[in-house]
Amino acid sequence: MSLPEGFRFSQSSLQDYVDCPRRFQLRYLESQSWPGVHVEPVLEHEQHVYRGTRFHRLVERHQLGMDVALLAETVADDPDLQAWWRAYLDFDFLHDLEGARYPELSLFTVVAGVPLMAMFDLVVVTPGGRVVIFDWKTYARVPSRQWFAARLQTRVYLYVMAAAGGRLLGYELDLDQISLIYCVVSQMDSFVVFDYSVALFDGDRGYLSGLVSGVGARLDWLLTADEQLCRFCVYRSLCGRGVRSGNLLDISNSHDNISDVVDFFVLGGVGEVGF
Ligand code: SF4
Repeated sequence: MSLPEGFRFSQSSLQDYVDCPRRFQLRYLESQSWPGVHVEPVLEHEQHVYRGTRFHRLVERHQLGMDVALLAETVADDPDLQAWWRAYLDFDFLHDLEGARYPELSLFTVVAGVPLMAMFDLVVVTPGGRVVIFDWKTYARVPSRQWFAARLQTRVYLYVMAAAGGRLLGYELDLDQISLIYCVVSQMDSFVVFDYSVALFDGDRGYLSGLVSGVGARLDWLLTADEQLCRFCVYRSLCGRGVRSGNLLDISNSHDNISDVVDFFVLGGVGEVGF
């Protein structure tokens, strides 16, 4: 089955493919709608997603220059969102960073003949030419550096910026000057930094090219062997992998690390609603 006309990869679709080829097939090749619940309790999850959306919008508006007091009024109805907003305002590392700001920036490059998109929450380009990508996460706690490093987002964001950022800025980027910073809003001081390099860029080019080519050549769309992933997947009844969704509280109580399962469908999945 070939990719649909005009298909563009993102870190989410590539992560889906790596996690479960069948999920990639159902979601992106067959556009299969399925009324499964990602996670329970549903209401708490929906509130979390909605709060995350509002937080991203707030930061975008602040980075565009809107008045802090005016923005603060818009979060008066939600104490949790207020706490995130205050943490953001106290994040001196960002606010002290001089340079041009590009909130909600989209860039793409072409990998193995297919566009690969990245949507950055915020990019700051300093007068010295350093390019810093900020990504807000609304997780309850900070995952390990190793966990972030293994996510497709880390490779995709850095690679796309390195390959396509020159178009934005009008000059060739120094790859050693590109960084990606994950900021977990509940613990903003524990931000996680990934610095890029020519060697990493070369490695990512080979890896991403192989991944994208592999999707195009794939004939079998196997169900994941990791059934933990199915607990939070809307397709689980379609795949015969259970009917009830996983519980958000069970995860946070029982996992030492936030698992891959939680990222896309429970927490990181907010990225799929428009950030
Ligand atoms: S239920 Fe499991 S096997 Fe089926 S698409 Fe989802 S993750 Fe893949």
